[in-house]
This record gives sequence, C-alpha cells and structure tokens, in this order.
Amino acid sequence: MRLFDTHSHYHDPKFDEDRAGSLDRARTAGVELILTLGDTLAASRAAIALARAHRGVMAAAGIHPCNARCWDGEVEAELERLLADPDVVVLGEIGLDYYWDKAPDFIAIQHEAFRAQLRMARRLGFAVSIHARDSNDDVLAILAEEHAEEIGGVLHCFNGSYEQARRGLDLGFHIGVGGTSTFPKAGDLRDVIRKVGVEHLVVETDAPYLAPQAMRGKRNEPAFVAETARALAATLGLAPEELAEKTFENGLRALKIPARALQS
Ligand SMILES: [Zn+2]
Ligand SMILES: [Zn+2]
Repeated sequence: MRLFDTHSHYHDPKFDEDRAGSLDRARTAGVELILTLGDTLAASRAAIALARAHRGVMAAAGIHPCNARCWDGEVEAELERLLADPDVVVLGEIGLDYYWDKAPDFIAIQHEAFRAQLRMARRLGFAVSIHARDSNDDVLAILAEEHAEEIGGVLHCFNGSYEQARRGLDLGFHIGVGGTSTFPKAGDLRDVIRKVGVEHLVVETDAPYLAPQAMRGKRNEPAFVAETARALAATLGLAPEELAEKTFENGLRALKIPARALQS
C-alpha cells in the first residue's frame, strides 16, 4: 500500500523535536510521498530545505491568504525565484480565507495575491493547492476567471457543497480529503465525497493541524493520512489498498508531480 499526503506543513517547527521519528512512522504507515507547503516566503524556504534533505518529501511554495498583507512586487519576484528550485513541485498554498479577518482592504489584497499567484502558476506550468475558508464561491469564481482549467490542482480540505465541488471538478481540479472528513458531524461532507467519487479525490493531513477523529486533539502528522484513507475507503465502500493506490495516482496527476521528484 502506498499513500501520498498531498497537503502538510511538515517543515513546521512543531516537528523539529521528532522529525526523523515521524518520518519513520509515516513510512511504516505506507506514506511514500509528502508534499510540504509553504504559507510565507520563509516557510517556503524551510519547505525546500526539508525536501532537499529527505527522499519522498517534496516542497510547495506560496503565500497563504492569511499572510497576504505582505504581498507586493518584491514578494512576487522572490516567490518566482523560489519556484525555480528543483525541489519545488507545486505552487501553494494559496486562496482566500474570510474566517479570521473580513476587513475590505484585507480581502482586496487577498484577491490580488491569489490572482497574481494563479497567473504565475499558469505561466510557469505549476499546479496549485487551494485553501478556501468561508470563501468557496469567490475562490471558484476567480479560478474560472483566471483560466484555472489550464492550471489544475487540488481544493485542499474541501468543505463545500456538491454544487461547489462540481464547479471545481469542471475546471479539472481534485478534491482534497483530510481529517475533518472523519469527524462524526461531517456526514454532509461524506455525502459530497461519495458523489464526487474516488476518481477525483486525494488524501491529505494538513499536519500539524486537523488530526483525524481517532487522533483528535493530538498534533497531526503525515502517518495519520493512513487513518483518513482507511475512513475514506469505508465511506466509499472500497478496499483500503484500492483507495490508497487510486488516490496516490490521482495526487501525482492532479499536482503534476514531475518524474524527477519520485526518484530523489
Ligand atoms: Zn489550508
Ligand atoms: Zn495547509
């Protein structure tokens, strides 16, 4: 069985104490690939350093919407320089987050940073990992306007309706399923996931956040993607091995992972 944790923050300092141990646990659980995503320039640099040091760990670079206040021409130029690093395989995480701060000037700068990063991804040939919190409709509208069907990627930790998922699928995006899908109250999300179907799903942890129900309250880590995959297989009525293999292949395709990343 092989698993691909398509969304984690494995460079996070919360792993500094036992990163080697958690990597062993991930491998024992069948996790062969881990994408670690930056949410600032500094975190993107940390993600790249980690990817360089560990086989099976790949980096994404991007500015998270919650950190969009920093966005300017200099940040944009530096992000493009980071994307030239061979250990960077995805642009992310990017998107819109209306949960923490709804100030109009902040929303405007989030939109600007999101659109600029989508254009960069389209121009440079990267897939994107998309964060949407209380913002699915705006995210989907911007994706359509920015021709995201020519970009591709994952709607990570998706929590919207089937109609919203459908709009993502129509743009060629995959749906990221994480620990929240295992929560007892997530029945509506599981219904959406069943309608979407395994062909369009990938699994993720968002570690160190959002541990699945069986580990709820703990620091999440890449090994726990096996628990989310096990629960997802049960939701879909599939054998765990089949679910693991399909979501692994979906992840490679959705995120346009280059062959070189599988060898190093
Ligand atoms: Zn996110
Ligand atoms: Zn994240």
